[in-house]
Amino acid sequence: MSDTQCIALIAHDLKKDDMADFARVHQASLAKFRIVATGTTGGRVLEAAPGLDVTRLKSGPLGGDQQIGAMIATGEVDMLIFFIDPLSALPHDVDVKALTRLATVYDIPMALNRASAEKFIDFQKG
Ligand code: PGA
Repeated sequence: MSDTQCIALIAHDLKKDDMADFARVHQASLAKFRIVATGTTGGRVLEAAPGLDVTRLKSGPLGGDQQIGAMIATGEVDMLIFFIDPLSALPHDVDVKALTRLATVYDIPMALNRASAEKFIDFQKG
C-alpha cells in the first residue's frame, strides 16, 4: 500500500460550493494526498481542482458515507474533512452519525467545518 496519506472529503449539498472553493484554494496542499470523496462532492472537487488524485465513491445518501466509514475502520483513510450542513434534515442522517462515530473510534483527525479544515491545512504546511 502507498505511503501517501489519504483524506476523505464530503460536503452536504449546501456546503458543496464551500468545499469546491476549499479545494481550489488549497489545491497545492491537497495534492500531497490521495483523496476519496462521496460521488457528488468528488465531482465538484475535481471541477474546482482538476489536478487532484480523487477517487469518487457512491453518493452519500446511496452509501458513500458508509464506504468512507468502512475505509476508516480498515485504516485506509487517515483524515476526514466533512462539511456538514447543520440546518437541514437529511435522509441519511444515521450514516452521517455512523461515519463521525467511526472517525472518533479510530481517532483520526476530523474537521466538520471549514474553519477546522483550514487549520488542518495550516498544520500540514508546518
Ligand atoms: P454527495 O454525498 O457528495 O454524493 O452529495 C454527500 C452526502 O450528502 O453525504
